[in-house]
Amino acid sequence: MKGYLMALDQGTTSSRCVIFDHNGNTVASASKEFPQYFPHEGWVEHNADEIWESQICCARLALKKSGLAPAEIAAIGITNQRETVIVWDKATGKPICPAIVWQCRRTAADCERLTREGAAEAVRARTGLPIDPYFSATKLKWILDHVEGARARAARRELLFGTVDSFLIYRLTGGKVHATDPSNAARTLLFNIHTMQWDKDLLQLFDIPAAMLPEVRPSCGVFGHTDPALLGAPIPVAGVAGDQQSALFGQCCFERGAVKNTYGTGGFLLMNTGDTAVTSKNGLLTTVGWQIGDKVTYVLEGSVFVCGAAIQWLRDGLGLLSTAAESEAVAASVPDTGNVYFVPALTGLGTPYWDPYARGTIVGLSRGTTRAHIVRATLEAMAFQTIDLLDAMRQDAGVSIPALRVDGGASANDLLMQMQSDFSALPILRPACIETTALGAASLAGLAVGVFRDLDEIRQNIAVERTFSPALPESDRQARLRDWHRAVERALKWAEA
Ligand code: ADP
Repeated sequence: MKGYLMALDQGTTSSRCVIFDHNGNTVASASKEFPQYFPHEGWVEHNADEIWESQICCARLALKKSGLAPAEIAAIGITNQRETVIVWDKATGKPICPAIVWQCRRTAADCERLTREGAAEAVRARTGLPIDPYFSATKLKWILDHVEGARARAARRELLFGTVDSFLIYRLTGGKVHATDPSNAARTLLFNIHTMQWDKDLLQLFDIPAAMLPEVRPSCGVFGHTDPALLGAPIPVAGVAGDQQSALFGQCCFERGAVKNTYGTGGFLLMNTGDTAVTSKNGLLTTVGWQIGDKVTYVLEGSVFVCGAAIQWLRDGLGLLSTAAESEAVAASVPDTGNVYFVPALTGLGTPYWDPYARGTIVGLSRGTTRAHIVRATLEAMAFQTIDLLDAMRQDAGVSIPALRVDGGASANDLLMQMQSDFSALPILRPACIETTALGAASLAGLAVGVFRDLDEIRQNIAVERTFSPALPESDRQARLRDWHRAVERALKWAEA
């Protein structure tokens, strides 16, 4: 069966829709930003109706641009910002309060209390995650405890909970389907990634009524059909995955040991660990990549908080650059950093250091240091931070990594990609289609409805645009990594005093 595939890519700051043909070529796309709300220090909210409006608007716009008839769309795949919590009225589909976004820290004290009470180990054993405000459970509990009447209404089964995928499925199917996929469920702290079910003990721990939860179905399969009034035809919603997992799938990282890194605002490295949920000793998350049929693929995930954001800071905070893209030419105007190292711990450090008190540090400055050296050191830091994640993964998974696939806005920077290859001694594979997040969801949907026979057919759709090969002698590489780690030492614990 041939046909076109529509991906709905619901991100943190914008909603996108991309329509692909069965060869993975982009036929049309549209995107729309939506408002962010910061009602208190550390709080981040979205309006779920605005998420929906922006998303459906993009879908209609992309469809119109494509010139296709709605019936030519064989299936829709959804990929989404993860962990964000929406609670809505089962009868009307209306959200009962603002969506609490993954970035929101309002439940930090609740998480600290649960950790003090000794819950962390059991939670990690079942979910693969630490207890952190980042994940959904404490946000959902917050809504039940703080929105007037919410707990009583939930007890009367009048309210439903979902992450963004689940809310979109509900709206797309005209309120007929309340479901999610394991890659999203696995980010809630309520889902047992070994039994692949909502976990009764965790529901009790976080005080969440089971009746609110969506049904967890495989990432690849028909969840339901769109209400024909929305896009002009009933279209199967047939693939769902959280954004990072979707990018891993879109990059065709189907084998154990396959790794992708996304260079966006933050950096996200994910490794396919096959049918094994690997427990990390280095602060990586263990989570679900996707489920196809009965087959669950697990992943290890590591993140750096500040990746492309370091370039943004040079541009907006320091005024050293006028555009992010300019960083490449400025950095290339000098042969090296003149021994300058920048540790962009602007919001602390994540994997593998996990130090909220680390702060941004520039070391090795001399009279000869110029703007170009600092810009170059920033690009190098983006590569070095990725290497720390790669090393953590190698140790945890005990597999060798053959190559690194890359995507995200900053992967367009050739110099950065060459640095990444040099410092990691790995080939870096940059795909021709940089819409890997959308492509992943579309591919899952296409697999579900028979646009693709199997994973091999999907693999034919991903072309490598450019491979960067390591060119730095090993002794130089080791010396550079040693100095990077010396610089990190100086950034750690800075704000603790
Ligand atoms: P997100 O999806 O997280 O918003 P994107 O994938 O769009 O991020 O990437 C944008 C980030 O990448 C920004 O932080 C920007 O500073 C950085 N960036 C974009 N282009 C370049 C470039 N050519 N060189 C270095 N950094 C870049």
